[in-house]
This record gives sequence, C-alpha cells and structure tokens, in this order.
Amino acid sequence: MNLYDTEVAEGLLEHRGFEIVNDAMDSGPYAVDVKVNADVFLMNTCSVREHAEERVFGRMGMLGVAKRTNPDLIVGMMGCMVEEHREKLFRRFPQLDLMVGTRNIKELPGLIEEVRQNRRQVAKIKQDGISIEYTDQILRKGKYHAWLPIMTGCNKVCTFCIVPITRGSEVSMQAREVYREASRLVSEGVKWITLLGQNVNSYDGNPHPNPLPEGEGANSLAPLAGRGQGEGRINFPELLDMLCEIEGLERISFTTSHPSDATEELYRVIAKNPKISRRFHLPLQSGADSVLKRMKRLHTYAEFREKIRLMRAMIPDISVTSDIIAGFSGETAEDHHKTCEALQELRFDSAFIYKYSVRPGTPASKLPDDVPINVKEQRNAELLDIQRQITTESDQRLIGRTVEVFVEDTNARNPLQLYGRTQDEKRIVFEGETALLGRFQKIQIGQLKRETLLGSLI
Ligand code: SF4
Repeated sequence: MNLYDTEVAEGLLEHRGFEIVNDAMDSGPYAVDVKVNADVFLMNTCSVREHAEERVFGRMGMLGVAKRTNPDLIVGMMGCMVEEHREKLFRRFPQLDLMVGTRNIKELPGLIEEVRQNRRQVAKIKQDGISIEYTDQILRKGKYHAWLPIMTGCNKVCTFCIVPITRGSEVSMQAREVYREASRLVSEGVKWITLLGQNVNSYDGNPHPNPLPEGEGANSLAPLAGRGQGEGRINFPELLDMLCEIEGLERISFTTSHPSDATEELYRVIAKNPKISRRFHLPLQSGADSVLKRMKRLHTYAEFREKIRLMRAMIPDISVTSDIIAGFSGETAEDHHKTCEALQELRFDSAFIYKYSVRPGTPASKLPDDVPINVKEQRNAELLDIQRQITTESDQRLIGRTVEVFVEDTNARNPLQLYGRTQDEKRIVFEGETALLGRFQKIQIGQLKRETLLGSLI
C-alpha cells in the first residue's frame, strides 16, 4: 500500500514541476553525517512493526542535523505514523515541517507550497473517506506490473495490529471504479495487476454510485451486469471474476487476506480463472489455539488447516505463503512448539516470520509483553530455520522442470540477466534480451543458488 501511495505522491509532485530524487539517504538509516540533496525530504512511513518506526525516528535525527546546515530544507512525513502519532510528532521533532495523512495525498503539492511560503508546521490529516487515490498522474515503477488498491482499513480486531487505528474501518472502492482503473492500466501496457487491501478479500463494493455521474450511461455498467444481484453489492470473488474479463490483463494477484474471508466461493473463482495468480498469502500467526484466541484471530488452528486443505484440493497448483509472529504475549514453550509443528504440517512455500513487538494503542498493548527478548529471538530463529528448509525443498523440486514465467524486469544485480515470475510467483533469474520484457516465456530451471532459482530460455 505504501509503495502505491508513494507512486501517487511522486506522480502528483512531478506533475507540479518537482524533480524526484530518490537517493538522498543512501548512507543508511542511522548515519549521522548525511548530505540531503533534495529541497524537500518526504518519508512515507509504516507503523506495523516497532522496527519500522525506529528507523524513521533515526532518520528524523539525521534530518535535524541536515537542517542545521540547510534551514530551507522541508521535512515531511506521510503514511501510518502520521495517523498514529499525529501532532505529537511536531512536539517531538521541531525539524518536522509537514504531516500528510493517508487520505490527504492529493493535497501534498499545495501543502509543500504552504510550508515553503509561510515557514510554519503544517498538518493535514483527514479522518473520514477512503485513503485511495486513482490518478493517471501516478509515477509507476513497473511498466508491465501495477499495484491497484481496492479497499483500505480493517473491521477485524486482531489484538496485536495497529491497522484498525491507522487506516480505520473498511472502505471499498466502487466496483465500477476498480474496473475502470484496471482497464485504464491495461490500456497503458500493464499486464499484471496486484490488488491491494489491508484485508483485501473482505472487499465489499458498491456496484455503482447512485445516481451515475453526469454523462455516464448504462454502458459503463456493462461489466457489472448480473453480478452482486443478491444484496446489490459486489464481493471479492465477484470482483476478481469481473476483472478476469478485461482483455489484455494477463495476471491478477492480491494481498493480504484474512482466513475468515478465504471462502469456497473464492477458491472456485481462482480455480476456474487461469489469469489469477497461484500464490495465496494467508497469515496463520500462530499454531497454538490459546495464542490465536489472545490475538483474536477468529479461528482455531484446526479451522485454518481445513481452509488450506480445501484450497489445495480445489486449486491443486496453488502455492500458500503465510505470516508468523514469534513470542506474542503469553506464548509458552508448548505454544511455540505447536507453531513449529504447524509449519511442518502445512508446509508453506514461504513465510514472513517476525518477533512480536508491542504497538502502542492496540488491545495487546494492555497484555504483558512477557516473552523475554532472548527467548523471542531464539524462537524466531528456530521458526526461520524450519521454514528455510521447507522453502529450499520446495524450490529444489523445480530443478530440471520447464515453467512459464512472466518476464518482469532486468536483474538489478546483473543487467545481462532478466527475471520473471511463475504463475505461483516464484522468481526465476535467467539470461535473455530485454525484448522479452512483458512477455510470457518458457524457462528451464537449472539450479538453486543462495535462495535464487536460476534458469535458461528454451
Ligand atoms: S485482519 Fe490484518 S489488518 Fe485486520 S486487524 Fe487483523 S492483522 Fe490487522
């Protein structure tokens, strides 16, 4: 979501005559001697983990130093930290000039002008509405791939999570708007779209606004015909099915999903549409029911396992990935052992595994953070070891096989190489001409080298 918001912010600023300079802080997050080349330094921030916030605080210190030698420098902050800490940040960091909420990105160029002219701290943090901006001024990084947010916020109540505080309740874009934006992206050459939402599979969109905007007739509703008839709304499987009809759109991915909304209907739509990615990211967080209950994840381990079983039965080529939190409040050695067993049993293709960090203001911040840091580290390392082994075994099974990849870009580390992604989004590196970019290509996988799959054109 932040990548998308950054692309929007950069596009809007460039359109207003700003030049985007992305290399201003290459010297690392905690360096003291930093040279800022830009006139305006903007950080798009994340609050999901403590570590991300610490990095921003570290950079604020560096920017304070930079501002002593360049008092005209404008320092701004966007994203979830603004929503979380609000004006408190101005008191803590007098070097901060500008705060822009997640629903105010469109106002960014004007707000920078306001700071420049009046040299006073400015904050614009709207509380209602949706924090998604569709604009053709967006500065997309990928030529063939685009992010497409379809909903924001979350109505779940996972006790560790700050999203309901920073992004608010769920709000979905209208289905017609999503369809129109996806079609626009395809007309610009995009072939692969990743649908985004904090809880993407609980998408619940209005089929169309009532009344229609002036000049828009029944034709603009054609893609919605016959859908969402029941309660008059479009759910996530219906939206996916509808987007699959866009000619020229070759692949659709989505992230991130909650197990409660991973339904048989969704699996059925994926199974019948080869355009939909065969990677399904479904966070488990813990293999112990007592921990899942304290996290308020709304399911038991057995229920989660059944979701995965059904998914694999209905979509045999699906690859499942997950998230795990190590050392949540009250996690015992036995609970941890159950999570290790869950990884072994469910055999995710990969998983993001992190140590638990308390997020102030969340329900879990009232629970004791009682797993000592060294124990969290040891459990985290053990889980990572198990998952690494499983991921390696899964990757090794691909060696010698021929797969089809969507050729995405050149390899940043070696410009003679390209990389592409398989239908289940495994990244394969191979040598080839840039003329292959944006095309589907058959590759024979030759070896696994330091967690990278290498292949050759056939
Ligand atoms: S479902 Fe995801 S975004 Fe929503 S509260 Fe839980 S972890 Fe946070």
